[in-house]
Amino acid sequence: MTHAPHLFAVEGDDLLINGVPVRVLAERVGGGAFYAYDSAAMSQRVADLRAAMPGDLKLHYAMKANPMPAVVRHLAAQLDGVDVASPLEMRVAIEAGASPAHISFAGPGKSDADVREAVAAGITLHLESPREFRAALAAGEALGRTPRVALRVNPAFELKAAGMKMGGSAKQFGVDEEKAPALLREIAASGARFEGFHIFSGSQNLRADSIIEAQAKTLDLVVALAEAANLPVRLANIGGGLGIPYAPGEQRLDLAPIGEALELALTRFRARMPDTSVAMELGRYLVGEAGVYVCEVIDRKESRGEIFLVTNGGLHHHLAATGNFGQVLRRNYPVVAPARMGVRETEKVHVVGPLCTPLDLLGHGVDLPRLQPGDLVAVLQSGAYGLTASPTAFLSHPAPSEVLV
Ligand SMILES: *Cc1c(COP(=O)(O)O)cnc(C)c1O
Repeated sequence: MTHAPHLFAVEGDDLLINGVPVRVLAERVGGGAFYAYDSAAMSQRVADLRAAMPGDLKLHYAMKANPMPAVVRHLAAQLDGVDVASPLEMRVAIEAGASPAHISFAGPGKSDADVREAVAAGITLHLESPREFRAALAAGEALGRTPRVALRVNPAFELKAAGMKMGGSAKQFGVDEEKAPALLREIAASGARFEGFHIFSGSQNLRADSIIEAQAKTLDLVVALAEAANLPVRLANIGGGLGIPYAPGEQRLDLAPIGEALELALTRFRARMPDTSVAMELGRYLVGEAGVYVCEVIDRKESRGEIFLVTNGGLHHHLAATGNFGQVLRRNYPVVAPARMGVRETEKVHVVGPLCTPLDLLGHGVDLPRLQPGDLVAVLQSGAYGLTASPTAFLSHPAPSEVLV
């Protein structure tokens, strides 16, 4: 079985994370399961995007994909903004050096206190409802600050082939396209500073044609809304949705046709809206392939002819790799033996965790060299939606550590 493509170098038997063998990192983090993130791989992702996308396209980091402060600091320094989804993420982004003017806060259900915190910090609120807007005005009044707001719009179209749809149909996200003009009139009549629009239609898309189509429709929608708004539009955040390969046979997205199509769409867009910047916000694409999750074999068992490697890691550390984070079909993430990369002879095994549930399955029928207790197992493509998307308290085992290399 061949794996989905990955970014890491291999030297002899060792998988390297930014030049350091995983075997050595395991000692450096003091034992136990851990996540390691390759800072050079993240920078490469940024460079690839800058090279392929139009020169004036802004790139933001959607930090819920990986909110480790060191990762946010690394990316904030190279990108044009950070998108946060909670007040704590906002604080981490500010401490990581992102300027509040370039931080935006999206997410349904912002409490009055959340809104106040955002207004106090001077970041942009991506409004998800009329109630949030009124809370922003009240906070601005109480704090003597002008709230900065953008309108998150739930478009009438869907992102085809997205792993997770975030727009189209009835959704809790944003304000329906049809209802936007009324709220825009309210914003225009208030003293709030209007930043622009945010339209995010879906995630984990590996089809360039559907991304291209969604981006073109999104820009058209911004033009239409701007005409209805009678407000200056400083920024149009057109979402992201760029996916990464996980399963065997999946290929990395070819950025070139997406960049070319966006250049054309932006040329048309600029003719109508010359003063509006356009941003793409990405989480998974920037960090997903740059991360690896590493655990250790605790036991090797045979049950009715099948081999189980029981590890000290699993669902409580890496829910997504077990197929339980919103996936419809469980498919293995790429699983390797990071200190036996040169070994050709393999056996078919199931890699499981220590939890008392059959859901705790990191690899089903994967090909690995013959491993024993004490050996390491690594799950690739683990830099996004890993640790913080996992129920670490479940069964009260120790949490994994994290290291940025
Ligand atoms: C989660 C999220 C993202 C990031 O999505 P990825 O698929 O990780 O790129 C971007 N924007 C918003 C509004 C989100 O909620």
